[in-house]
Amino acid sequence: MMTDTELTNNLKLVQQQVGEAAQAVQRSHEEITLVAVSKTHDAATIDAVINAGQQCFGENRVQEANDKWPSLKNRYPGVKLHLIGPLQSNKARRALQLFDVIETVDRPKLARSLARLMDETGLRPDCYVQINTGEEAQKAGILPAEADAFISLCQNELKLPIVGLMCIPPVNEDAALHFALLREIARRNGLKGLSMGMSSDYATAIRFGATSVRVGSAIFGDRKPWPPTDS
Ligand SMILES: *Cc1c(COP(=O)(O)O)cnc(C)c1O
Repeated sequence: MMTDTELTNNLKLVQQQVGEAAQAVQRSHEEITLVAVSKTHDAATIDAVINAGQQCFGENRVQEANDKWPSLKNRYPGVKLHLIGPLQSNKARRALQLFDVIETVDRPKLARSLARLMDETGLRPDCYVQINTGEEAQKAGILPAEADAFISLCQNELKLPIVGLMCIPPVNEDAALHFALLREIARRNGLKGLSMGMSSDYATAIRFGATSVRVGSAIFGDRKPWPPTDS
């Protein structure tokens, strides 16, 4: 377990490096959202990071977010939560209630479910389309060749509030190529948001135009499986 001081120091360091990466390419720090990825970390740890000043978090599972976040959100109503992991259609209703941003709209069936539930509930969190830039079989996301048609389906037919694109580059490739591809797909579709970059490459992502970086281990340290097991 990390101490509150360690968490605070990690957060300050990441914030500083976001600022420096932005400045290096004449961008302003304010145009980049730092999403602190709190998956597998318990509410007390997240509480410490909120108290250190962080206002935006990411979780990759609806069930885990449902276990941890309702009470945190009660205490800290200004804090925003992003869904950054795959969403099953049968959890879409709960996701709309829990999350302020859904970054993983990745297939027509889910897009249609979200559109119907948004109409029904009036909840309309900002959404990103996830692109499988590496065309990896095991990874979620729309293939680059199908991106334009899918974005058009989401925006024009389903009227989803799509604000940008998200990608998770293959682990063994130069992430910059994937960031450049994501930026190009966003540009030609008139989308401003680019959620890309994690602990190992967020500075590179900012150079390639990221508007949102998703940083977990550089803030929270290593991850153990959720739920925590006592022993
Ligand atoms: C876990 C996760 C991250 C954070 O990864 P780190 O390497 O710990 O920064 C970012 N994005 C997604 C989609 C994740 O699942």
